[in-house]
Amino acid sequence: MMNKARYAFLSLMAFLVLAASAVGVRAEPAKSTKPAKPSQSVKPPFGGTIFVNRNIITNEDPSAFKCVVPAGRAEVGMFDRRPKQPHKVNAYLFTATFTDGQTMEIRVNPEFGAEGALAQAKIYLPYIGQMPYTVRRDIKRVLIHKGKKGFGGGGAGILIHTDMGESYMKSGILTETLIHEASHTSLDHRHSGAKGWLEAQEKDGAFISGYSKSHPRREDVAETYLMYFAVRYKPDRIDQKLKDTIIKTVPNRIKYFDSLNLNMYPVAGPKAPGSAIAAVQTEALRKELKLNAEQTAKFKTLGQELDEEIKKLKKQKADTRAIKTQFDKKALALLTAAQIKSLETTKSTPPPPRAKQEPKKK
Ligand SMILES: [Zn+2]
Repeated sequence: MMNKARYAFLSLMAFLVLAASAVGVRAEPAKSTKPAKPSQSVKPPFGGTIFVNRNIITNEDPSAFKCVVPAGRAEVGMFDRRPKQPHKVNAYLFTATFTDGQTMEIRVNPEFGAEGALAQAKIYLPYIGQMPYTVRRDIKRVLIHKGKKGFGGGGAGILIHTDMGESYMKSGILTETLIHEASHTSLDHRHSGAKGWLEAQEKDGAFISGYSKSHPRREDVAETYLMYFAVRYKPDRIDQKLKDTIIKTVPNRIKYFDSLNLNMYPVAGPKAPGSAIAAVQTEALRKELKLNAEQTAKFKTLGQELDEEIKKLKKQKADTRAIKTQFDKKALALLTAAQIKSLETTKSTPPPPRAKQEPKKK
């Protein structure tokens, strides 16, 4: 029991640290105190790399997600970016398994209800499974809340706010964003302060994005890794100009990542058994989304048809009313004429004398 309590406390602390770092409270300056070289004043080619290209990973890419099963409920710490949210909630818990043997705990805010919580886990897990093992490996927990707030990564987890997630899905950059956040979780603590990385930063003398330039220790690995991933593993998804820009801006950081021989499953490398199932699940989800879109379109058309019908009926009603008014007017005129005529007849011809009746004798 003590161990459990200690674990809970440690995970809470880990998440508080993650929270602070994710919102920028713990933004650390680069260790180097040397003045920036003139080349470091070079304007970065991008603002933030998650927005650079929506096709780096698409729904067609395989996923290592295998299955998810309910694991009950528990009072757990769940960092939430929305204001005035409790630190601990009675979350719905799930265990997710991946085809390379990795497992994760999924903590879903009770605000979704039991079925909704499972549905949310099923929405996000295929995307999480699309990330290469090298950025997925240290994710022990995934936190899912409602709200349109920024995602987060670091500590031992990633943070998802579903209204923001939907907007990323619509823009086609959900997995790209997850790769950025998961880089905080799995790459930062290994590389952001490593000698080789700091040397590569210095040699490149430039940053890939304004965001990484503003936070060279906190964001540079995550910002650069996604672009490295695009150049090395999805070169057919991006155009030559983008490739050239990335290679020209951070050649030494690319060399650094190349030297690590990272495990890229399921993006590249040997396929683990079961990856076909995951691909099928991704495909099923894609179909479901397509079906939803089709149904929405159908309802929209039906709505438009109904609107037309209502318009027609309203016009018919107005026409009928006009005809009735005309008819009433005519009828009134005729009636008036008939009454006048009848009055005139009454005036000119005296009423016929009443037939005399013999009084009845008693
Ligand atoms: Zn970041």
